[in-house]
Amino acid sequence: MRRFVRFFGISALVTLAACASAPEPHPPVAAATATAGATTPATTVPTTPPSTPAMTNPLLEKWTGPFGGVPPFAKVKVELFTPAMMAAMDEQRREVDVIAKNPEAPNFDNTIAAMEDMGRALDRVETLYGVWSSTMNGPEFQAIEREMAPKLAAFSDEITQNEALFKRIEAVYNSPEKAKLTPEQQRLTWRHYTSFVRAGAKLDAAGKKRVAEINQRLASLFTNFSQNVLADEENYMVVIEKEADLEGLPDSVRSAMAAAAKGKGMEGKWIVSNTRSSVEPFLTYSNKDDLREKVWKNFVNRGDNGDTHDTKKLITEILKLRAERAKLLGYATHAHWRVENAMAKTPERAMALMEEVWPAAVKRVKEEVADMTALAKKAGVKRKIEPWDYRFYAEKVRKAKYDLDENEVKPYLQLEKLREGMFWVAEQLFGFVFSPVKDVEVYYPDVRVWEVKQKATGKHVGLWYFDPYARKGKKSGAWMNAYRPQERFKGEVTTIVSNNSNFVKGKDGEPILISWTDAETLFHEFGHALHGLSSNVNYPTIAGTRVARDYVEFPSQLLEHWLPTPELLEKFAVHYQTGKPIPKELLAKIEKAKTFNQGFATVEYLSSALIDMKLHLAGDKDIDPGAFERDTLKALGMPAEIVMRHRTPQFNHVFAGDGYSAGYYSYLWSDTLTADAYEAFVEGKGPYDASVAERLRKNVFSVGDTIDPAEGYRAFRGKDAGTAALMKKRGFVTAAPAAKPAAPKKK
Ligand SMILES: [Zn+2]
Repeated sequence: MRRFVRFFGISALVTLAACASAPEPHPPVAAATATAGATTPATTVPTTPPSTPAMTNPLLEKWTGPFGGVPPFAKVKVELFTPAMMAAMDEQRREVDVIAKNPEAPNFDNTIAAMEDMGRALDRVETLYGVWSSTMNGPEFQAIEREMAPKLAAFSDEITQNEALFKRIEAVYNSPEKAKLTPEQQRLTWRHYTSFVRAGAKLDAAGKKRVAEINQRLASLFTNFSQNVLADEENYMVVIEKEADLEGLPDSVRSAMAAAAKGKGMEGKWIVSNTRSSVEPFLTYSNKDDLREKVWKNFVNRGDNGDTHDTKKLITEILKLRAERAKLLGYATHAHWRVENAMAKTPERAMALMEEVWPAAVKRVKEEVADMTALAKKAGVKRKIEPWDYRFYAEKVRKAKYDLDENEVKPYLQLEKLREGMFWVAEQLFGFVFSPVKDVEVYYPDVRVWEVKQKATGKHVGLWYFDPYARKGKKSGAWMNAYRPQERFKGEVTTIVSNNSNFVKGKDGEPILISWTDAETLFHEFGHALHGLSSNVNYPTIAGTRVARDYVEFPSQLLEHWLPTPELLEKFAVHYQTGKPIPKELLAKIEKAKTFNQGFATVEYLSSALIDMKLHLAGDKDIDPGAFERDTLKALGMPAEIVMRHRTPQFNHVFAGDGYSAGYYSYLWSDTLTADAYEAFVEGKGPYDASVAERLRKNVFSVGDTIDPAEGYRAFRGKDAGTAALMKKRGFVTAAPAAKPAAPKKK
């Protein structure tokens, strides 16, 4: 069953946070496809180029080998993608036809279940395509992406606008027989029905035509938007000529800047690239006020320079088209359309959460600024704290207040030891055991594979691929990907998942030491992987991480909480030279500093999330994004010392695709669940309480989207999540000491 997990959309998201696990992206996603017997791969001839018969295109073939078949990575050649995808789309067209024209009366098996079994060839090709897009990218592949993206978008509309197919889905959905289906089958029927309706299946011919036009225009605008932002990231930079101007920067930052200069043919100089990973360390450590200001200005003005790459006109058009599409589809605004199928269900509920947290975060910022101002004054600085000062003085406060130096922690955080630690946590919580596998193909020599089994029964659970290192052609950030979801309606199919990150590979035999934040990210992505591996459902559309956007970050954020547990650290956070576990004093410092700077992190994030939602609630009018941002922030009382994490003209989450539009709130929504859920362990016997872990597995990690997430959560927790635990986690209440680590979320 084909779902548009748009890997090509990942790039935008991944930069920051990354996790691409998930769900429903674009217009209610087109789902699917079809048919009976459909699993026979490609007996078809591709539409282009005729010289490559599909039968011989290895990307189309069923996966073979151990574990129910594994991805044929070694057979991939970039030039095979286009003919394979064209042929796979053709095959799916035939599958749709078989279902749509079935002379039998529509029922669950011949319609909904049949759709679960269609598009298998396209799924397989798109899985490989997604891996190349995110980890093996290059100019040759980008040309294919530019060609294929609009074709895939049009294909999606073609399916959801297939009247005969929709009539059958609708008949099953409205049939009194539906009540006799299992709850999972009823939920699956609902998923297909609503995703078609939400894509415009009920519109008249003119309405459908307009929706398709809008979708195609939007696809181009999204591409232009992300390319413009990228151009400003590549074209703007700060070149430093004198070593004296590097004052305050750690060696690692200096050498990265030197390498960037060398890459641009400016050997002997230093470059601050206009990307987050270069800008943030510079703003944190540089002693040079004027250079910090310059670097900061370049970064926050991406897409907003009034030149050919300015994105504001694109935004106005995107917003207008989205508003028009929402109206056509029968919704008050784009926000109402987007949020309807999420856990929040209405933009008002999402707004209520954000507005509850906002004042507390702003209040905390005032305290943080007061601390920084006092420290700056002592150092003889007379002026007020500017936005390009925040990270710099925050770091000084952190040292002064908590005496915590990242360089002291790093020697205890070895990548491979932490990986073993994650496996250990998975065993404690879910009874999984991992063993290395050698005989499967990988797409790059650094990729390693493990088999996951149930410890108690020895039963095979799935495969876990690990691609930890940065390299050219691999997108930045970290993410999880499911190569194959679990299912069992036509026989047991086990899942294949992967975790991807961008650690700098060390010399052979040398351990890779990572930061505390990176260790949290590692656990976060592993949380997505465990969500996929725990899946215990019948149908692939609703398996594993294929859940609502504002729910999918909950299992992953939750897993971060096991990193700071003493049980884990004593065994796995050991010094790379002495083998000694991390000292208790150091742990105490980490614990003490855990809510540090949460005012900044929350306001930076939440201002973006609020603007996103308000832009998409504003309705069908010409919006000037600059004025809208200015006026809205003023009305919100945005602290002058902070700028949005993603200003409107560079907000890739929201304007490089539909995925996170009116959805950036999701991280806070999920974190509210996360904070509350971890309390269940605190209230029980602690992080390794087996009975709480079993409830978590049973009601959250294993159920995919077979039940309403709110119900699943309630079954786990015995109640709905409130905000008390979140406020405590972020240090916004001064009650009892928070029960867990806080750590800014990746976003
Ligand atoms: Zn995530």
